[in-house]
Amino acid sequence: MEPRGAFPRACCLVSSLYVCFVFVLPVGDSAPASRVQDPAVGQFWHVTDLHLDPTYHITEDHTKVCSSSQGANASNPGPFGDFLCDSPYQLILSAFNFIKNSGQQASFMIWTGDSPPHVPVKELSTDIVINVIGNMTTTIQSLFPNFQVFPALGNHDYWPQDQLPVSTSKVYEAAANFWKPWLTEEAINTLRRGGFYSQTVPSHLSSQSLRIISLNTNLYYSPNAVTLNKTDPANQFEWLENTLNSSRQNKEKVYVIGHVPVGYLPYSRNTTAIREYYNEKLIGIFHKYSDIIVGQFYGHTHRDSIMVLADRKGNPVSSLFVAPAVTPVKSVLEKQTNNPGVRLFQYDLDDYRLLDTWQYYLNLTEANMKEEPSWKLEYILTKAYGIEDLQPKNLYDLAKQFATLDSKQFLTYYKYFFVSYDSSVICDKECKIEQICAIMNLDEASYTDCFKQYGL
Ligand SMILES: [Zn+2]
Ligand SMILES: [Zn+2]
Repeated sequence: MEPRGAFPRACCLVSSLYVCFVFVLPVGDSAPASRVQDPAVGQFWHVTDLHLDPTYHITEDHTKVCSSSQGANASNPGPFGDFLCDSPYQLILSAFNFIKNSGQQASFMIWTGDSPPHVPVKELSTDIVINVIGNMTTTIQSLFPNFQVFPALGNHDYWPQDQLPVSTSKVYEAAANFWKPWLTEEAINTLRRGGFYSQTVPSHLSSQSLRIISLNTNLYYSPNAVTLNKTDPANQFEWLENTLNSSRQNKEKVYVIGHVPVGYLPYSRNTTAIREYYNEKLIGIFHKYSDIIVGQFYGHTHRDSIMVLADRKGNPVSSLFVAPAVTPVKSVLEKQTNNPGVRLFQYDLDDYRLLDTWQYYLNLTEANMKEEPSWKLEYILTKAYGIEDLQPKNLYDLAKQFATLDSKQFLTYYKYFFVSYDSSVICDKECKIEQICAIMNLDEASYTDCFKQYGL
């Protein structure tokens, strides 16, 4: 499958980075004079929530297939995993091999955390967690030598889980050492200190630079007891504002990456993923710098969703994307889960504006049956919804369309929310309003208003 448009591409190895040049063909005489020239397109990958379960193995006793099923019978275990288990190594390897052999040229990859499995605290330790993060890092580095990766830490990338600290720790130190080949000395220093960093992406094709800000949003995560009652854990807010300030002065554009997303959970009413106080604070900062933040990318929910930040007057100003997990795991009580997914973003090489998402997935049931991992394109966002690009206004208008009665586009969105796990599932009126209010409202006041508007 050819990426956006049918432009001839030539790719070369520059400064150890794959940089892709897209030559835009001259527009013929018959083309309307007002036609906007197609932008030169850059691409990057987003992978998240690998959740390796090193205990996964095929055995007769289905309660013993993986520790992450926590004693429950695995449902239909095969070489690439089971819906009641976290990822076997084979599944993770198949995801990265797919990326490597996809034929898509990308300038970098973002990797937004959660490498260890979902198992009781006593079954892990600091050393095991460090080992798993190291194993995943080595896997990526050996498959993609000299490729630029920007990681972020997840709430499971610590022991005990969720309790990421406000100063240096064995895990931050280990991550800093593992990720040295990808990061600058300055980035490594703040990573060691508080689990966050920022770094620019080199480009020869734009007058502006792109800065990646990797936030440690786990410091704001509700179950993190270490940061309870702290106004600015690890001084990350102060650092973030300073970083954004100098970015603006240096005329940079910014992508924010992190594990736990801001805003409200789309499947649970009135629940923010991070503590409300921190959510309001972050939203305030994102409002203030919406002129330079041109994209935000998160993981953690394991579901595929979008959010649009609007300013105080209700104008959409920022697009946010939550990518689905590689792990397919669900608990016995849950009806729904996700197929494994990875995604490719396309952006304008000149101003870093987001153009499109190519979501890829593995139909786990089929992969296990055929004993072959055929990763496939699930959808191209602009084509699936008939929109121009991923600009905030377009996504905001799309969310408004979701709200119309029997919206086909919403049915599509809800199917992709679970990475095509089960398209027969129905989202009733309340479920739909929860989804729509979470897409369009990231702060408390507007979120509450949204439900009122729908009479709920
Ligand atoms: Zn996760
Ligand atoms: Zn998580």
